[in-house]
Amino acid sequence: MKESTMEALVQEILDQVKTPELRAYVTDLLLEICQVDTSPFADVSLMREAEDKVFQSLEREFAKLPFPGAHIERRAMNPAIQDHPGFSQLHFTKTESRPQGLSAEETYRDRCNLLYYVPDENGREEKGIALNAHIDVVKPYFPPRLENGIVYGRGACDDKGSVVTMLAALKVLASVLQKAGRRLKRNVVAMCVIEEEPGGNGSLSLAIDRELKKLYDTILVLECCGNNIHPANRGAVWYRVDLSCPGVNLFEMSAFVYEQMELEGRAIKAESRHPLFPQRPVQTCHGQIGHYGEHPSRICGEVAFEICFDGKINAQVQHLIEDGIASALADYLALYGDKTKVNDPTTGKPKVDHHYDLEVLADRLVCKVHGSTGHMGSIMENDGAITKMACLVRMLYRMKGKLRHASGGDVTLKLHDEEETAMLKLEGGQGFVPTHEISEVMERMRRAAVDGAAVYLRLEGNATAASDCVKVSYDKLHNAAFDGDPDSPQMRNAIAAGKAAGIWKEGQEVIGWTVSCDSRLFAFEYPEMPVLTSGAGLLQY
Ligand SMILES: [Zn+2]
Repeated sequence: MKESTMEALVQEILDQVKTPELRAYVTDLLLEICQVDTSPFADVSLMREAEDKVFQSLEREFAKLPFPGAHIERRAMNPAIQDHPGFSQLHFTKTESRPQGLSAEETYRDRCNLLYYVPDENGREEKGIALNAHIDVVKPYFPPRLENGIVYGRGACDDKGSVVTMLAALKVLASVLQKAGRRLKRNVVAMCVIEEEPGGNGSLSLAIDRELKKLYDTILVLECCGNNIHPANRGAVWYRVDLSCPGVNLFEMSAFVYEQMELEGRAIKAESRHPLFPQRPVQTCHGQIGHYGEHPSRICGEVAFEICFDGKINAQVQHLIEDGIASALADYLALYGDKTKVNDPTTGKPKVDHHYDLEVLADRLVCKVHGSTGHMGSIMENDGAITKMACLVRMLYRMKGKLRHASGGDVTLKLHDEEETAMLKLEGGQGFVPTHEISEVMERMRRAAVDGAAVYLRLEGNATAASDCVKVSYDKLHNAAFDGDPDSPQMRNAIAAGKAAGIWKEGQEVIGWTVSCDSRLFAFEYPEMPVLTSGAGLLQY
C-alpha cells in the first residue's frame, strides 16, 4: 500500500469518527443495550433472554456493515469448559432451595456468544485478528440515562462501551474501505461474549475452541484501560479460609492466620520485580470475616470485636486494654500508614476519621475498628479494618495473663455480634504479577494460613495439627497473571494505530494492566499468541 493512500485512509477514519452522526450512533446503541439487565441471575432463563435481546440489537447493526462476505454466528456455549482449569464455579446459580447450584449443562443450555466474521482481502478467514468485549455486567443493575452527552448506566463503561466501540470501529472501517475500493488485509473475528464478570466462562468457551482458533493468531481484548495498550495483565486469586477446630477460639486463631498471610503477601510482593509492572500491584486484601465485610476483593471498612470478662472490669483492666490497643495500633500504623492523616480527594475529608471506638459494658468491652473501603487494588490508599483488628487482637491475646490477673477471672476475645459456630469463614484476595505462577501463590497463601493456625495452637499448648483446622480454597476467582512481548509486531502495530488516533503519546511507557480479565484465558490457552488488552474508560470505582 502506498504511504499517501494509508495516510488518506487514516485521515478519512479520523474525520468520520468526529462526525455528529457517529456520536449519535454510538450514544443510541449504548443506551439501547444498557437498557437490558445482563447481570447474573440464579434463574438463568433471565440471562438467556437478556443476552438474546442484546445480541438482536448487535446482529441488526453487524448485518448493516458493508464488508463483502462478512457473516454472523451465535456460537453455542460448550459445557466441556467445566473440565478446564480456567472454569469458574457457577456460584450465581445457587439458591436456598438449590444450594448445589446448576451444572454447566443446565446453566449454558441454549446460551451462546455472538461472533461476527470479516474475511481478508482474498476472501479467506485464517490467522487474522480477534476482538473481544463482554456484554454482561455486575450487580446491582441500574438503567442508563443521557446527561450532557454522557451515558451513565451499568456497563456503560465496563464493558458495553467496548462492545459499541468495536461495532463503531468496524462500521467506520467498512465505510472508509468501501469508499476507497479496498478490503481488510487480515480477517477479523469480533467476539461479543457473555459471563466475563462471574469469571470468564463465555470467553473460555471460545478460547478452547480449536476450530475457531484457526481463524485468528492475535487477540485484542477490549476493557476499560483508559486507552492504554497492555501486553500483560496482573493475576488475582480470591481465597476462602475455613477455620474449624473443636474447643478452640477460632476468632483468636484468625488473628494469627491474618498475620502469616500478610507476611507471605509482602514476601510475594518483594519478589515481584517485573519491567511491565514497576508499581508492583501485588495486594493482600482481607474482605470478609464471619458476617463482616461485603466481598472477597473489597477492602473491609468496618469490623468489631469483644473482650469478654468472667471477672471485674476495673480501672486497671481498662488501662491495660487502652495501652495494649495504643501499642498495637502504633505498630500497625508504622507498617500501613496512618489514614486519618490522608485526605480522600473526592470528599476532602480524612480517609479514616478515627481508628476505633471502645465501649465498656458490664461484662465486656466492644472495640469497633474503622477502616476505609474500596476495591482491593486500592489497598495502599485505603485502610483494611480486618488487618488492623487482627493486630489489636494479637496484642490483647498476648496480654491475657495480665488481664486475667487484673480482673480476677478468664478473658475471651470474640467477633462482635457473631453467632457461635463450629466454623469461621475468612475471605479475601491476593494479587500477583507474572513473576509468580498462580499455583505457587495459591500454595504459599494456603501454607501461610496453616502456619498462622499453628502459631496460635502452639501458644495455646494445643497439640492438634494445624492442617486439620484450616481448609483453604480458591473457587470464586483464580486468574493467572501473564506477560507478553512489549515489542511484538502486534504491539508495535497497536501503538502505531494509537499514535495515529492521538491516544498514544510519543515515548509513553508500555506497562501491564493491573486488573485481570478474559485476556488471561486466551494467554493461558495459547502462550505463544500475543494477547493485548486495551479500550476506553477507566475502572475507578
Ligand atoms: Zn470488564
